[in-house]
Amino acid sequence: MTAALAPEKIAAALATLREAAALSPAVFSTSFGAEDMVVLDLVVKHKLPIGIFTLDTGRLPEETYALMEQVEERYGNVVTTYFPDARAVQDLVAKNGVNGFYASVDNRKACCAVRKLEPLSRALAGKRAWVTGLRAQQSVTRVALAFRETDSERGLEKFNPLADWTEADVWAYVRGNDVPYNALHDKFYPSIGCAPCTRAITPGEDLRAGRWWWENPESKECGLHVQDGMVSRLKTIAVKEIA
Ligand code: SF4
Repeated sequence: MTAALAPEKIAAALATLREAAALSPAVFSTSFGAEDMVVLDLVVKHKLPIGIFTLDTGRLPEETYALMEQVEERYGNVVTTYFPDARAVQDLVAKNGVNGFYASVDNRKACCAVRKLEPLSRALAGKRAWVTGLRAQQSVTRVALAFRETDSERGLEKFNPLADWTEADVWAYVRGNDVPYNALHDKFYPSIGCAPCTRAITPGEDLRAGRWWWENPESKECGLHVQDGMVSRLKTIAVKEIA
């Protein structure tokens, strides 16, 4: 049985989304994880003027593409897809190999830069507000997450409407509203990214333990959510435990 989600949490998330929408143009980036599906459902259901986009790295799992199709069927063509620059991918693979990201953190970051960061920069160009589905409890790199923060590197305001949601809150919303979700979540993948860089976790592991599992936890961000040249959530790792 799924625990009930407090209506106040939905109201607070909607208030954050409306705050973001007021800073037009506002966009929401989705990677189609369960949290992102909650935000997508809220944005579409409440007809909020927030554009929705995703980054197709070219290495996503089949289950994610299947969910993208389900989203089209359920909500219509509401998501804009950004792809990496073909020449940049070609050069990267020529230099590091098709799976070169396993060889070093630098190689992995180079791959994320080409397949995620550059397309993200295009998607965020000219925008004033950026909405994410991040939650504070997701990993040691996100414990200090706020509902609203300034992304000084990109010169915009960032909004995290689910910052204080628990994993149970997310699933209560998904189940309670019949929101489609990635089939990998039912196979012990709480956090889903590119296929070669994501694996299932075992009970008790950190929720993002399946992402870049061969690296140290502190390096496990792709650079999408970086502030002032650092992964900002690292600031409070020493003083705050993840529930
Ligand atoms: S998650 Fe892996 S495959 Fe995807 S862009 Fe980053 S290094 Fe490349």
